[in-house]
Amino acid sequence: MTKYKVVEKFVSINGEGQKAGQLAVFVRFCGCNLNCTYCDTKWANVPDAKFEYETADEIIKNIKDTKIKNVTLTGGEPLAQPGINELLEKLSEEKELSVEIETNGSKNIEELKKLKNTPSVTLDYKLAGSGMEKFMDVSNYEFLEQKDTVKFVCSNRVDLEKAKEIIDKYNLTSKCKVYLSAVFGKITPAEIVDFMKENTMNNVNLQLQMHKFIWDPNERGV
Ligand code: SF4
Repeated sequence: MTKYKVVEKFVSINGEGQKAGQLAVFVRFCGCNLNCTYCDTKWANVPDAKFEYETADEIIKNIKDTKIKNVTLTGGEPLAQPGINELLEKLSEEKELSVEIETNGSKNIEELKKLKNTPSVTLDYKLAGSGMEKFMDVSNYEFLEQKDTVKFVCSNRVDLEKAKEIIDKYNLTSKCKVYLSAVFGKITPAEIVDFMKENTMNNVNLQLQMHKFIWDPNERGV
């Protein structure tokens, strides 16, 4: 039976995405195949990170015990967990749960999209400011649905310009929700709004990482 490396599980406000502001139960998996400059979960990705091995049934039981219906699978990189589709398949049978998976944009989602009752996917496009742009798998964009989100975390104006280029090139606003978000402390939300106005970016959403305003930006488990 597949066991997954879980570093953290907690209930909090969903800070970003289509369910932002609602309670969600978070399951954070250990390890990531990327190493972004601004990563705020490096502690979950290091080789000696503390984790617990949990089966799909144990993860689902923990989720159901919270009585929270929104579930966010995050990391690290959840799709880097071997056998993750087995967990996603089991979760899809839990009709009362609304499952979202946050993935870094480097992992192909085609197999995931073949599952019945797929989770909603929040797919990052890592811009140059992350140092990881060359790993982005843009072939994922053909599998997007309205319940999915592509998120651009911007460090500077160059990132914003590239985000606009990708949004236009792949016609993302017609396929899914699109969010622009700021690397905390690198660019202000006001600068992003100015850019959106200058470029008449209809159907694009500014995303504030709500949990960074509510709690200390470095707080864990919130
Ligand atoms: S993809 Fe996410 S978890 Fe992985 S290094 Fe980048 S910010 Fe950190």
